[in-house]
Amino acid sequence: MTVVGGGHNALVAAAYLARAGLSVLVLERLERRGGVAGATDLFPGHGARFARHSSFLSPLPLGVVEELGLDLPRAPLPTPCAPPPGHDDHEAWRAFHTDVAGVIDRVAPTLLEPLPVERAVREAVDDAAWADLVLRPIGETVERRFTDDTVRGLVAADALVGTSASLHDPSLAPNRTFLHRHLGRRPGADQPLPLGGRGADLLAQAAVEAGAEILTSAGVSRIEGGDEGAEVTWHDATGGHTVGSRHVLSDVAPWVLRILLGDGEDPDSKPAGSQLAITMLVERLPSLRSGDDPATALAAGLPVGGYAGLEQARLDAAEGRLPAALPGELRSPSLLETGVLGDESADGRHLLTFLGHHTPAALFAHDRDARRDEAVERALASIDELLTEPVRSLLATDHDGSPCLTAAVPQDVEDDLATPGGQLFHGDLEWPWAPNRARLETPAQRWGVQTDVGSVLVCGSGARRAGVVAGVGGHNAAQAVLEGR
Ligand SMILES: Cc1cc2nc3c(=O)[nH]c(=O)nc-3n(C[C@H](O)[C@H](O)[C@H](O)COP(=O)(O)OP(=O)(O)OC[C@H]3O[C@@H](n4cnc5c(N)ncnc54)[C@H](O)[C@@H]3O)c2cc1C
Repeated sequence: MTVVGGGHNALVAAAYLARAGLSVLVLERLERRGGVAGATDLFPGHGARFARHSSFLSPLPLGVVEELGLDLPRAPLPTPCAPPPGHDDHEAWRAFHTDVAGVIDRVAPTLLEPLPVERAVREAVDDAAWADLVLRPIGETVERRFTDDTVRGLVAADALVGTSASLHDPSLAPNRTFLHRHLGRRPGADQPLPLGGRGADLLAQAAVEAGAEILTSAGVSRIEGGDEGAEVTWHDATGGHTVGSRHVLSDVAPWVLRILLGDGEDPDSKPAGSQLAITMLVERLPSLRSGDDPATALAAGLPVGGYAGLEQARLDAAEGRLPAALPGELRSPSLLETGVLGDESADGRHLLTFLGHHTPAALFAHDRDARRDEAVERALASIDELLTEPVRSLLATDHDGSPCLTAAVPQDVEDDLATPGGQLFHGDLEWPWAPNRARLETPAQRWGVQTDVGSVLVCGSGARRAGVVAGVGGHNAAQAVLEGR
């Protein structure tokens, strides 16, 4: 078994397959393992280790954590703060989140099982909830059900992670993003804490202890496959190598996989990212103009900019302008995972992450450094609207005296992680169920991990249910291989 790419989904698949007794080789082009979820030293002279550019990684499903014996702490995940009783949208918020829970509670238990068909999911969900979340554009739902701009923005932002589509887009791509985002963080449950710190290291350890071999600095350049087996060619410091195996699992984006399979590069179908990711180390949490407790608000995620601001930013970006006010979400992942700061958490320091919306790659196509700097300034100005003190005044400095702030636009993410277009999810997300008429004949089809080549399966974010939900693609590709033995 050969696994191409060494992101966290690859490591989950490798651990399952090696534990089942298969010989597993993982090939990763970077010097480190874990892909997006792999922690790196963020700022020279400080102990902060976190997944660079990530705002908050979804937790691994409990089933995966238990089956792989991962030693991750558990806690209830914080949920966005509801409008208080007496607020116009208080009841609307409760009713809406009951509807969301109705769909999520039906779908979440199926993620680690063969794909359900749409009909089976739909029959178990309230008709009105299904219509609002699955049939009509999420923008229509938000505008009909909420009146307050901030509340509308809070709900809508979950549909815009990594995409600059309109909330009224008839493709319903924002609806799918919304659903995957909520699948990744079921409220209230006693969840294993997210993966941004040492989670990927634990996964790599589980895979190696089970007998998998993980090679880093091993970039794959070609896959030649048929229905019965495939050969993978990679290069490392010693030269080129080729290995054959019954199955190849692909943790790289489907667009990259097609190139490796020899289909050539198709610029028209290349995914395009749309996010600005800022990571900062601050001496202490900022205080909020709202008077809310920053620890509570920043653990849950603080929306920056309301609904009207999101729409204005989309229009600006569509016309080729960097949005004047940059909407997004501000979080502090170190409130959940204190370990990511090393000894520095005792000094009151924290990581702050900002995930900015509507900053598509096209805006940074020329003069990237200057445009990125400009985007950061606009994002910080938008953040400052919510604080009683400028966020810059709270930044720690590194050993050269530079402020501890890193920022990445989609092109930076592509350069770092070979994620085409810097798109967060390796391409557009799909519904986490099969269409009613889907062919579900092979194990790979039943688990939603098939490609056009019988011996090559997708284990990464491009699998039907991988999306933001950590580890699901890796688990499901491994189950398809084991079922087909
Ligand atoms: C910048 C960023 C931030 C994100 N933030 C969040 C978040 O906060 N919360 C959340 O839930 N989700 C987030 N996501 C989405 C999430 O990480 C993905 O949906 C998915 O989980 C990625 O994991 P993966 O294992 O599928 O792939 P990846 O982590 O992308 O791993 C793929 C690996 O393949 C390697 N590779 C690529 N080409 C080759 C090659 N030719 N040969 C060998 N190796 C190769 C890459 O170097 C990489 O290590 C983020 C994604 C990105 C890109």
